[in-house]
Amino acid sequence: MERLTIVRPTNDPNWVKARNRDGMEGMIPTSYVTEFKKEVKLNTMAWFHGKISRDEAEGLLNPPEDGLFLVRESTNFPGDYTLCVCYEGKVEHYRVIYKDNKLTIDEEEYFEHLTKLVEHYEQDADGLCTQLKRSVPKQGRRDYAVDAVKAFKAAGWSINRQELKLLDSIGKGEFGDVLLGDWLGQKVAVKRLKDSSRAAQGLLEEASLMTSLKHNNLVNLLGLVFEDSCILLVTEFMSKGSLVDYLRSRGRLHVTKQDQINFACDTCSGMAYLESQKVVHRDLAARNVLISEEGVAKVCDFGLAHEMNFKLDGGKFPIKWTAPEALRHSKFSNKSDMWSFGILLWEIYSFGRVPYPRIPLADVMKHVEKGYRMEAPDCCPPEVYQLMKESWNLDPQLRPTFHEAYKHLVQLQHSTLA
Ligand code: ADP
Ligand code: MG
Repeated sequence: MERLTIVRPTNDPNWVKARNRDGMEGMIPTSYVTEFKKEVKLNTMAWFHGKISRDEAEGLLNPPEDGLFLVRESTNFPGDYTLCVCYEGKVEHYRVIYKDNKLTIDEEEYFEHLTKLVEHYEQDADGLCTQLKRSVPKQGRRDYAVDAVKAFKAAGWSINRQELKLLDSIGKGEFGDVLLGDWLGQKVAVKRLKDSSRAAQGLLEEASLMTSLKHNNLVNLLGLVFEDSCILLVTEFMSKGSLVDYLRSRGRLHVTKQDQINFACDTCSGMAYLESQKVVHRDLAARNVLISEEGVAKVCDFGLAHEMNFKLDGGKFPIKWTAPEALRHSKFSNKSDMWSFGILLWEIYSFGRVPYPRIPLADVMKHVEKGYRMEAPDCCPPEVYQLMKESWNLDPQLRPTFHEAYKHLVQLQHSTLA
């Protein structure tokens, strides 16, 4: 892979003039280049108010309440910050100094960025008048969306609306319809939603996480379209739909042993990548794995990877897929994803059945905690069932990592070939 600078287009849309790092120029076919894109990190620091004055800060921290705080840019010392905290009816303004690429208040504790600093003083007053308790969030979701749009554009993720044709509806998502689209001759999937809502923020967060992740077994983000009233999220099109629909519609007559182990390996490989990036999925299930035209399985739906979007009592909580410690104590980890992966393996080998058949949803957790585990589906290879049981260990530490599980599955994949 090489990074080139596009010098100018030519009369032929399929060719552009480009220059490499050594300054050599030449014509290259556009189908061999993709735009260089940078990761987008959204500003989720709700307590950060930017350039506001001391008086404005005190106005926002009213009525005062011990531990109520916000962070602003320092007016007296540009480049530094000020942490403003209420205590006993007054507001203290602590100067945060930027020194040797790090932030500090007392020149004893140093932090890489503001979020780390705030987290620290939320844990412990550590010399401040009080521990930080509650922040005054910066108002206006619109601002948030406007900033996010700027960030995506600057990083090269913005797609021109004219280049995108919207075609049939292909699914229903949490944020709105999923449509088939045509982007410069390439089939794409498009999630559309109305702007100016909580959903817009969720979708933008999902998208920002996707900009930092790229793997052949993850559904990749291609870009976003920003219109006045809506946002379109453009991802690669997975023509064979979700894994669970694929298994159910084709059944044991058409889905081979080879297909099954391939899906298991593909999914595990995508998850091993997420594990290596320290990203937790939280909603891994066959419905969130999509199949490409070539039959490659890719993990999708990182909407929940970031933070908890679903509520325990909500009907949408995937109880049958969620590890006990995650259900009980919200302890999500790569190991709780591994529990879900065990359920997903069971789905693959039972051709898309709903897990724990005949057990009412309300009783599943009780049974599982008492030691009940699903039996192996018919014709499931013993090695795969062994992996399922290991992934359903009540102790998260004793479950395999995705990296380890992948090694086992690949061995099995090779012996299935023979
Ligand atoms: P949600 O936000 O509800 O999780 P999904 O991303 O799961 O939405 O999408 C809902 C449905 O739309 C999927 O089950 C699938 O049928 C279809 N779909 C979503 N993304 C794609 C895609 N990239 N290619 C093909 N179909 C897709
Ligand atoms: Mg989904």
